[in-house]
Parts: sequence; C-alpha cells; structure tokens
Amino acid sequence: MYHSILKTTGLTKRFRSQEAVKSVSLEVPEACVYGILGANGAGKSTLLKMLTGILRPTEGEILFDGHPWTRKDLFDIGALIETPPVYENLTARENLKVRGILLGEGDRRIEEVLSIVGLSHTGKKRAGQFSLGMKQRLGIAIALLNHPRLLILDEPVNGLDPIGIRELRELIRRFPEEGITVIVSSHILGEIEQTADYIGIMADGVLEFQGEMPGGEHLEELFMEVAGRRREEE
Ligand code: ATP
Repeated sequence: MYHSILKTTGLTKRFRSQEAVKSVSLEVPEACVYGILGANGAGKSTLLKMLTGILRPTEGEILFDGHPWTRKDLFDIGALIETPPVYENLTARENLKVRGILLGEGDRRIEEVLSIVGLSHTGKKRAGQFSLGMKQRLGIAIALLNHPRLLILDEPVNGLDPIGIRELRELIRRFPEEGITVIVSSHILGEIEQTADYIGIMADGVLEFQGEMPGGEHLEELFMEVAGRRREEE
C-alpha cells in the first residue's frame, strides 16, 4: 500500500446551475507525477483551484497527508495556476527575494530554487524580457520557495516551444526523486504520457478513469474510449 499525499471524496464545484466538477474522488500517491488529462472545459482548472484554496468546493472532502485539508496546508503546497505571478520589472532573483521575505526564506534558498529551474545565470535581465518558458520556470521557482511537498501545475507547457516543453518535462520528472509529488494538468496526451506515473482522465467534470499510466500506445486508446463513452451518453 502506498501513502496518499492527497485524496478527495465526492469533490464537487457548481457555478450557478453549471456543475464544473462532479463528485471527483482522486487519490494521489506520494512522490509521483500525477497527470490530469482532459479536453478544454473538462474541469481540470476548477479541480486544481479547489486543491489550492482559490475556489471553495460546493461539496466533498479533501484530505492532505491523511487529515482534512485546511488553509495551513498551503504552506506545504506550491502551485502554478494560469499565468506565473511575476513582477515584469524585476529580475528572477528580485522576484524571488520579494516572496522570500514574505515566507522567511533567505538568499540560500533563492539560489537553490534558481538552480533547480535553471535560471541562475539570468543576471540583470528583467522577467518582462524572459521567454515564456523562462517565465514558467520562474513561476515554478516561486512555487518551490517554501519547500512544498506537493506541487500543482496547471497546463504548464501551454504555449511553450519544443525546447521549453522538454526542459519543463525534465524538471518535473526530477521532483519525485526529491520526495516532491507533482500534480500536472494537460490536454496534450503525448506530454502527460512522457511525464506522469499515474493519470486521471476528466471528461465533462467527471473523473472517468484513474490509475497507473498504461504502457505503449495505450494511453490514446484509453483516452478515446473514456472521452468517447462520455460523448455517447450526451
Ligand atoms: P481548459 O483546459 O480550457 O482550461 P479545464 O478542463 O481547465 O479547461 P475549467 O476551466 O475547469 O476546465 O472549466 C470547466 C467549466 O466550468 C467550463 O465550462 C467553464 O466555463 C466553467 N467555469 C470555470 N470557472 C468558472 C467561473 N468562475 N464561473 C462560472 N463558470 C466557470
């Protein structure tokens, strides 16, 4: 039996009449990469926003490390959701310094996270002049500052070029070795296939499948079957 860092039961989010996330029961083993796959509008971002305290669940429960989730758990959760929260007129180091002061993390940790994401040598360059990939990596550095045990990344490869995608994939793959669990969402099958150990497939707000990543060419088959089943029901 593995230890789950995160577990949800019946997690639901309704916006007025629309149910964006429908009774999702997710189980994420510690120290793995868990990929959440789903077409646009499947409810991935809404789910991740509930896990990071941006949205309040309408119903259901979230357990973090075996206990009911509270806002205090956000000290152990790093997140990059939508655009990275960077000050464009500051350098990478300065961006981290601003956050470091808030979190009580000093220069040593700042240099550490810069090195983890490969931004140690960006010197005086301001974040506004960074490529999209560099901005994403700075966002991840910010999320890493307070030594999170769980890192939540919503569509981190969106808009990146192939080199940026590969760099980010290699970065994400290294976290489980350090004991950090990563939940990453994407609508790109190939990306999740190369990154994740476990997957959850969402369609129309429902977690239709979760389990170990199937080998070979089977992910596409599985995804088509799961997403197709949903379509037939409509
Ligand atoms: P994408 O990849 O396009 O971001 P997604 O899987 O992340 O898709 P969500 O962003 O979670 O999907 O959206 C799921 C559904 O919930 C959509 O139909 C969306 O319009 C709706 N929704 C999301 N946020 C809100 C909100 N704040 N108010 C009302 N409806 C919302």
